Amino acid sequence: MRVLTEYEAMQFLGRHVPVARIVVCKNSAEVVRCVKRFRFPVVLKLAGVLHKTDVGGVKVARNYLELRNGYTKLMKTARSKKIRQKGIVVQEFVKGTEVIIGIKRDAAFGHAVMVGIGGIHVELLRDVSFRVCPITGKDAASMVDELRMKQLLFGFRGSRPANVKLLTSVLVKVSRLPLRRRDIEELDINPFMLNDKTGKVVDARIVLR
Ligand code: ADP
Ligand code: MG
Repeated sequence: MRVLTEYEAMQFLGRHVPVARIVVCKNSAEVVRCVKRFRFPVVLKLAGVLHKTDVGGVKVARNYLELRNGYTKLMKTARSKKIRQKGIVVQEFVKGTEVIIGIKRDAAFGHAVMVGIGGIHVELLRDVSFRVCPITGKDAASMVDELRMKQLLFGFRGSRPANVKLLTSVLVKVSRLPLRRRDIEELDINPFMLNDKTGKVVDARIVLR
């Protein structure tokens, strides 16, 4: 079993589906240099940490002051909690609704693809649907249609409908990944940020056999 780092996972996924730009930096000077290319807002994360939010390992910065504060806080957190972080991830900020997309390998059925509503209530809602891989565009559309909270994607109380077409095309592509890589044991995109125009993977974890 091999767990890819978030950077490796994003690199791999980026060859198939849209992913947020990400750079891993070693120090504050590198972070500043990187942000100059990205523009604000940016997201800072402790690299190589599994449940980053739980330890305060994710910070959004809208300007240089927030960038400096966020960076200092991340470093302090890593030190005080003795987290073995592997640098600081700088990532472009993507607004939207949080969707989870995954793959799981089952001994009997082979690979299955999953989609669900993400965000802070994900464990509470358990609003997900599954299909055996690979799937067609039609399958993907019906998977989304099965979600109880699909209104979050199709528009709700005046909010703009998200680009569900893009989401279904990403689901089809993800469902085809095990055809190329039979050794995918588990793949978690959490979240895929989807808005009315675009959508991008901002966090991913891949376990290979
Ligand atoms: P973890 O799952 O390890 O806690 P994530 O990278 O998923 O860390 O970040 C936690 C949350 O922060 C996400 O669920 C999302 O709400 C927000 N977030 C993370 N990265 C971005 C980004 N690039 N753009 C917008 N929001 C983000
Ligand atoms: Mg996450």
